[in-house]
Amino acid sequence: MSSLESLSSARTVHSLVTYIREIQTKLQFRSVRITYLWVLSHKVISGNERADHLASREEEFIKLNELFSKKYAKVYVKGLNRQLRQLEWDLLIKNNKLWEVKRIFYQSIDHNNISRHKSTVLARLRMGHCRATHEYLLKGQSPPLCDLCQIQLSVRHILLDCQKYDDLRRQLEMPTTLEQLVQPDQLNLLIDYLKTIDLLQHL
Ligand SMILES: [Zn+2]
Repeated sequence: MSSLESLSSARTVHSLVTYIREIQTKLQFRSVRITYLWVLSHKVISGNERADHLASREEEFIKLNELFSKKYAKVYVKGLNRQLRQLEWDLLIKNNKLWEVKRIFYQSIDHNNISRHKSTVLARLRMGHCRATHEYLLKGQSPPLCDLCQIQLSVRHILLDCQKYDDLRRQLEMPTTLEQLVQPDQLNLLIDYLKTIDLLQHL
């Protein structure tokens, strides 16, 4: 309880409290809501028992202090932010019942052979939902339209139908069905296409 009081008191100047406040400000700036929970000590809660144990040993406390160095906090916040964005996106998709369960037998993704970013791109394209087509839901805006065809932007439209990229698709000899196109063996071709039309970073 005293840690929570320290965090809420403007007079506390302890360095750890200052770090936590910095992290808190950064997260709040990114609209992340933070809830602090006070957990009773010595109640056979394994994590809590461990924290008590660490706090009672000076050398361990020093390690704990190192763990909360500014550098570590920066990396931690960055990772946390990425996870929150992913979680936010997944929840958005699920809550809006946009999660499609398709009876298409996609070849499974071998995560050892492709980068995390590429496998995320492929997974989103397979779902039929990516930032470029559905971020409007997060922002409370109207669905985006293709500026040439004037129809609602969809993964299918971008990958197969948009007239703007007809020539490019022919030039790259891209498959003409979505099922063929989102197979792992087409991934490099798909990435080239998305890079050329400047959409890779918006998925
Ligand atoms: Zn179009």
